[in-house]
Amino acid sequence: MQGKNRRGVVAIDGPAGAGKSTVARQVSRDLGYIYIDTGAMYRALTLKALRLGTDLYDHGALTELAHHTNIKISYYDHTQMIIMDGEDVSTEIRSPEVSRNVSLVALVPGVRLEMVKLQRELAREGGVVMDGRDIGSYVLPDADCKIFLTASTAERARRRARDLEAAGYTINLAELEQEIIRRDEIDSTREMAPLIKADNAILIDTSDMGFEEVVNEIKKCILQST
Ligand code: C5P
Repeated sequence: MQGKNRRGVVAIDGPAGAGKSTVARQVSRDLGYIYIDTGAMYRALTLKALRLGTDLYDHGALTELAHHTNIKISYYDHTQMIIMDGEDVSTEIRSPEVSRNVSLVALVPGVRLEMVKLQRELAREGGVVMDGRDIGSYVLPDADCKIFLTASTAERARRRARDLEAAGYTINLAELEQEIIRRDEIDSTREMAPLIKADNAILIDTSDMGFEEVVNEIKKCILQST
């Protein structure tokens, strides 16, 4: 359906700390779309694995865990909450321990298949902005508008540090930068659905761009394609 006000699908991918979630949240608000943070799903499963002491190199165990975990996204006053087995884990999934380990869980094909099923289901009706690593390239290859957001590693580490400090964590910036580099490396080199810019995605480097400018660029893209 081409033309007037069709509720489209926006895919936003990029490395850690590129500003995807802040931008995606604002774009979804402005358009009246739903925002789906797919990283939160991998984080929730990682949290469960850490709590249970699951071996993060045991792909069979992690796949099994994914099959027996109920992950839901719900909304309260425009804020996304991530519910794992009935528990609101929205805050806990942002801990440094989860961040350090999530890429090991996310590289497991059985885990990804389970998450991708849920993500496609959530996007079926349109009217969504979904962010992640493989949304434009794998999860929603027919998305109306594909964006690949990036920024320098130093800038991304600074942004992550700001967020974590605001949440009460004490941060070592050099260590955080190393962790981001390691996470990007695992995410970009895994076999299944790695972090990659889809051929037809618009590349936006946010290092020196204002927030509003980035948001407007994405809105322009979706308004032109729906
Ligand atoms: O976006 P966020 O930093 O919360 O993502 C956490 C991790 O989840 C990423 O580093 C990546 O390992 C994994 N992820 C993924 N595919 C997605 C979204 C996130 O593999 N679509």
